[in-house]
Amino acid sequence: MKKIEQVLTYLNELYPAPICALNFSNPYELLVAVVLSAQCTDKRVNQVTSALFKVANTPKKMIELGQEKLKDYIHSCGFYNTKSKAIIELSLDIENKFNGIVPDNMKDLTSLKGVGRKTANVVIANAFGGQTIAVDTHVHRVSKRLGLTKENSTPYECEMDLLKVVPKNQRTKFHHQMIWFGREHCKAIHPKCEDCKLKDICKHYKKVTK
Ligand code: SF4
Repeated sequence: MKKIEQVLTYLNELYPAPICALNFSNPYELLVAVVLSAQCTDKRVNQVTSALFKVANTPKKMIELGQEKLKDYIHSCGFYNTKSKAIIELSLDIENKFNGIVPDNMKDLTSLKGVGRKTANVVIANAFGGQTIAVDTHVHRVSKRLGLTKENSTPYECEMDLLKVVPKNQRTKFHHQMIWFGREHCKAIHPKCEDCKLKDICKHYKKVTK
């Protein structure tokens, strides 16, 4: 069996129906939640957005709310100066360039101020039903350990390597599974290797046990 098939089989066993951990009811809400999730837990983001989205869940309403009031809502997410500025700037971009509608493709999404490839992939997959692999810190670390990408790859190179081997109809599911696997099993510090069914094919495991 190919390495990727073993990985997919195990991830499907561990996480048969993974979902996006951020709460949202429209593409704009997801975009804002992803900005807030940097260096913050999804649980905290969901607490914050449950109050914020009652008053501002469109670019227009967010601009009307303004950066100072926005800071009060998102204070507990950390980095509230940077995050509030980013949210207002991208809201202005959506209003001015796209008539208030969040675009559904990589080129337009990454034209928004502060929106990078990872965020765009999350939005395309979860708000628009696309099949993408957003490479966050967990996806990158686990991919490197398993040898699905090079040790010194960039997130973009990692994404391209994964796109070559993960079947198209499984990409979004794989992205969620890798995040959960990285959080709960293949942690940055003290990964649970002894319980892991991938240790026979894992480069990292071979390195640390030889
Ligand atoms: S063997 Fe360890 S390092 Fe390798 S994938 Fe499993 S948990 Fe991660």
